[in-house]
Amino acid sequence: MVIEPIGRVHSCFGEKFGVPRQPMLADASRASIELLSPLNVADAVAGLEENSHIWVVFLFHQAAGQWSAKVRPPRLGGNKKLGVLATRSPFRPNNIGLSVVRLVEVRTSPKVELVVAGADLVDGTPVLDIKPYVPYADALPSAESAFAGAAPELTPVFIPEEILHQAREFCDDWGTDLPRLIEQVLAQDPRPAYQRTDPKRVYGMKLCGFNLCWRYTGKGIEVVSLVAL
Ligand code: SAM
Repeated sequence: MVIEPIGRVHSCFGEKFGVPRQPMLADASRASIELLSPLNVADAVAGLEENSHIWVVFLFHQAAGQWSAKVRPPRLGGNKKLGVLATRSPFRPNNIGLSVVRLVEVRTSPKVELVVAGADLVDGTPVLDIKPYVPYADALPSAESAFAGAAPELTPVFIPEEILHQAREFCDDWGTDLPRLIEQVLAQDPRPAYQRTDPKRVYGMKLCGFNLCWRYTGKGIEVVSLVAL
């Protein structure tokens, strides 16, 4: 079986570190899914704009070929192991991912692309399929999940005024609200579960073409710098 990508993700997330651990946790995030030949035709997306949300089936390409039968989900503090099929780990057989995202815009010129909000996808992610999200069938309010029952708690985020000012000046083709994006992404506390003991550690992540540096103060996350890459 050979599957060819039908599209590629251009994302505000330049690297895996800092990407929210599930979709829709940072609605201010923006990505574009550029459709590739033979799907790069307006016909392929006709009617898609009538859906508020879409499913994206993709390849965890930065984990390609890597998997193990048991993994340590960050949601369990990185201590407890679960069977890979009981988790949403990228390190899984076939490395196939599934995310629901908000469809912001369908563009057919100069290229065919879908602008989406809330993606948990790193830049360059190959897309295998797109489907409309169908609320009556896909949203199951009574569904239960023991390992990730509710959205993670949010961490307070402090952005110094001069960095806030710098972020407000940012402008891109997707209308990204960078101050809001920084707040939503850092509120997820991206620190790895195994690295939460060193209070002085400064972390860096690639966001919207910047290197965003921040640290955990003990009470929350403080932005340290925002430097263009
Ligand atoms: N919602 C998806 C799912 O269940 O299939 C993703 C869950 S997975 C825990 C989300 C994480 O995958 C992100 O936080 C990021 O670190 C990682 N990730 C995103 N895009 C990736 C890619 N193309 N290759 C490898 N890892 C990726």
